[in-house]
Amino acid sequence: MARPRDGGWPINIVLIGAHPDDCEIKAGGTCAKWNEAGFNVHVVSMTTGDAGHHELEAQTLEARRRAEAAEAAKVIGATSLVLDHHDGELQPTLEVRAEVIGLIRRLQADVVITHRPNDYHPDHRYTSQAVQDAAYMVTVPHVTPAEPVLRKNPVFFYFMDHFEKPVPFDADVAVSVDDTMAAKWKMLDAMESQIYEWLAWLERTWGPRFLPAAKKGRKALKRWYGKTAAAAVRYAELFEISEYGHQPNEEELREIFPFLPPDKGRRKHGKKNAKTEHRSHNFSVGIDERFNRCAKKCQRARRAMGQGEFRQPRRGLRSEAAAEHGTPSSRLQYKPPLNGLFETCGEGSERHLPIRAYSSMRCARGSLNSSPVWES
Ligand SMILES: [Zn+2]
Repeated sequence: MARPRDGGWPINIVLIGAHPDDCEIKAGGTCAKWNEAGFNVHVVSMTTGDAGHHELEAQTLEARRRAEAAEAAKVIGATSLVLDHHDGELQPTLEVRAEVIGLIRRLQADVVITHRPNDYHPDHRYTSQAVQDAAYMVTVPHVTPAEPVLRKNPVFFYFMDHFEKPVPFDADVAVSVDDTMAAKWKMLDAMESQIYEWLAWLERTWGPRFLPAAKKGRKALKRWYGKTAAAAVRYAELFEISEYGHQPNEEELREIFPFLPPDKGRRKHGKKNAKTEHRSHNFSVGIDERFNRCAKKCQRARRAMGQGEFRQPRRGLRSEAAAEHGTPSSRLQYKPPLNGLFETCGEGSERHLPIRAYSSMRCARGSLNSSPVWES
C-alpha cells in the first residue's frame, strides 16, 4: 500500500472515544490499516477510565489505563491521548466542547470518529454530543479563537453500535479487518485492566462479541467488496457518516479508506447505495445542477416579489477554482451565501453558494443578483 501521501488528504484520522478501549474495540483493525497507508492516527479518550473496575481504586486505575492506552496505540503506530475527565462523570458542557474543538483543530483532523449519540453509557453519549457540537464549530474562527480554525470541515463518522432507538446504526462503510485482527487483538491484549479484568468480570467475551459486525454490515460489505468477498469476511468494522461535517462523495470515501477494493465495489456501490449516491449528488458532485435548482427557485421568488430576473453565475467556476488552487474539484465545498440570495431563496438555500476555493476572495455585495463579481 502507498506510503505517506505528503500533503495529501486525508492524513489525520482522529478517533474520539469516551474511555480507553472504545476506539480500539470499535476501530482497531481499521486503524492498523490507516497506519499502513501512512495516515496519522490519533486515538483520544475523553475520560481517564478511572471508574471501570471492581477492585482497583481510581488513581491506580487511571495510571494503568493511561499506560495501557499508550501501549495499545504503539501497536498500530498511533498516538494516544487520554484527557483528564473522570470516568462516568463527563458532561457536554461549553468547556468540554471548547476542549474538543481545540483538539480537533490542533490535530488538523481530516476525519473524526466517535460514538453515536444514543448509547447505553452516559460518557459515550456525552462524548458524541461534544463531538457533534464541535463538528461545525471547528470552522468558526471566533469560537475558541486561541486555536487556528480549520478551513476544511472534517468528515465525521460514527462507530458501529447495536442500539435501535431512535434509529438503528446504518453502515455507510464496512471494512474487512480479517487481515488486521492480529494487530487488534494485540491492542486489546495491551489493555489488561480493561479486557482481562473489568470486562472479564462483567463476563464479556471477545471473539464472539466481534462476530456480529460482519453480519450487521453484510449489505455494506457487499457494496464495497462484492458479494463473494463479502461472504468470506469474518470480522468487520463499520462506520456511519455523520450529517454534521463534510459529506464525502464516493471518491473521497475511497481516499479515506484506501484499502477498500477498487473496482467491483465501486459499481455495486454506485448502483445500490442510494443513500450515499444521494449524498454525493447533493453535497459534492452536482454543484452546477444544484446551483441551477437554487437559481430557478430564486427566480420564482424574485418574480413573485417583483424584483426582476435573477441571472445565475456562469458555469465552470468549479473547474476554474480547481485549476487556480490546484485542488481536485471534488474537494471544493460551498461557502455560505454572502448576500441577500439567502432571503429570496428560502429553505435550505444556505448551502448553495459559492465555493470554498474562493474563500480568500469576496463576492461583491449584491452582485449575485446579476452575475457574481469576485473581489480579492
Ligand atoms: Zn466506553
